Amino acid sequence: MIITPHLLAGSAVAAATTNSWPLAFLIGFFLHFVLDAVPHVDPGTFQPKPLPDEEKKWPLWIYIYALSEFVVIWAVVIILFQHKPNFNVIMAGGMGGIAVDILENNPFRVMRTWPILKQIQWVHEKIHYDLPKEKWFWGAFPQIIVVGISIWYLLKY
Ligand SMILES: [Zn+2]
Repeated sequence: MIITPHLLAGSAVAAATTNSWPLAFLIGFFLHFVLDAVPHVDPGTFQPKPLPDEEKKWPLWIYIYALSEFVVIWAVVIILFQHKPNFNVIMAGGMGGIAVDILENNPFRVMRTWPILKQIQWVHEKIHYDLPKEKWFWGAFPQIIVVGISIWYLLKY
């Protein structure tokens, strides 16, 4: 999934289940894999599938898109939820929610070969649902639902 549903769902589930920010981070982290197993559209949907041993490389537009989305959604989260008493849990859940994608897609590609990170990446790629390009449209709905429910919950509780 893209950054927004990962971040918001991590925040919402963490806010619903814990008051501890380290635990919130872990909840967001594990939720990432669950969400990526759901059919969804993301920039990768439109990229050619790498061969089994080929490095996945993103074109520049994906980095620009992801960075912009990152900045915008954090601004939205800060504006909407900064007054919440457990704002640190909301932030940590959101950070955990996007941590896997940051670890894996940052420009320091050497990190991908490090122990533990390498295994995390392996699980991530195994579990990730790759929607066929022609069906990208259907991949928008699960994300809209996740974003909608998460914002609704975070605003109301
Ligand atoms: Zn992911």
